[in-house]
Amino acid sequence: MAREHWLRSRNCGTTNRSGEPRDFLQLPGAEPWPLVNPEITWRSEEKIVVWDGCLSFLSIFMQVERHREIVVRYQDLRGEWKEFAASEERNLSELLQHEIDHLDGILAIDRIADMRTMCTREEFERRYRAHSPYAVAATQS
Ligand SMILES: [Zn+2]
Repeated sequence: MAREHWLRSRNCGTTNRSGEPRDFLQLPGAEPWPLVNPEITWRSEEKIVVWDGCLSFLSIFMQVERHREIVVRYQDLRGEWKEFAASEERNLSELLQHEIDHLDGILAIDRIADMRTMCTREEFERRYRAHSPYAVAATQS
């Protein structure tokens, strides 16, 4: 899953607002991208429904509702504030919403679009993976 692009460093001293270690976003073929104290400052009204899974409960998949585009404000490793606009490209908007939610104690399951879509990993692979653009992108990792 795209979730695995995220490396959570537990060795560095800097923490985010909830006292957790800072996060590094790692996209395929790119350098690790540190996001310190990330915060979503703008959300598009338009929403999308995507398949999501999580390293916190690896065997369960579900459809969740996300904003199509967002703007994230964060600090780099030197403490400078930056802003980044994320769209559906490379699932970045969805990915960032998922991970920033974690910092606030919100899990994908809290954003579930329809309870009936919750399924096991096996069921997802068998019934949905072929039709899921998100899953297709994730298999490239
Ligand atoms: Zn997660």
